[in-house]
Amino acid sequence: MPIYEFKCLECENIFEFLLINPGETLEMKCTKCSSEKIERVLSTTNYSVGTSGANMSPKAQTRSCSSGSCTTIDLPGYSR
Ligand SMILES: [Zn+2]
Repeated sequence: MPIYEFKCLECENIFEFLLINPGETLEMKCTKCSSEKIERVLSTTNYSVGTSGANMSPKAQTRSCSSGSCTTIDLPGYSR
């Protein structure tokens, strides 16, 4: 569901609205001072999701086998 973030131009209160249909935007106002002078701000919450690549780097494993040592590289997300 689309959640939009708005900022009140009067008191700089930032609040979120869940917009189910576009008609609701007509009734939006600040949750703090009830001013209708609000502007939409781009939410930054969506950009930080799923970009933590710490666990997604390839892992190299060295183990001994019959011919000495073998190195296998495990690629994340690749199933054999
Ligand atoms: Zn306000």
